[in-house]
Amino acid sequence: MSFFDKVKQGASEAAKKAQQTVEITKFKTQISLKEREIDKIYKLIGESVYTSYLSGDYTRVEDNVKDYCLGIAQINQEITDLEQKITEVRNEKECVCGKTVAADTKFCSTCGHHFA
Ligand SMILES: [Zn+2]
Repeated sequence: MSFFDKVKQGASEAAKKAQQTVEITKFKTQISLKEREIDKIYKLIGESVYTSYLSGDYTRVEDNVKDYCLGIAQINQEITDLEQKITEVRNEKECVCGKTVAADTKFCSTCGHHFA
């Protein structure tokens, strides 16, 4: 490879890295927004339980709390998806043992898992 090709390749690698950083930052922002949504729902659950305590009527709180919990579970799933996207952008994948390895890895260096 000529010197100029190497320089060009280096530049495009740098551009790719910069683009990756932008995308990862975007996903991380989305994750922290979702975590804030979950905090809000926790607060609503608490309010819902306390309102029932005040009124002495617990008949509706169970349904309300269940809806809130389903909401949290859904947001948690969305966060998992975003974390997965970050792993993909980084060109990595997660092994069954929990270790993060490069996307083209055939065998995990920690547990020996063979990637199909
Ligand atoms: Zn492994």
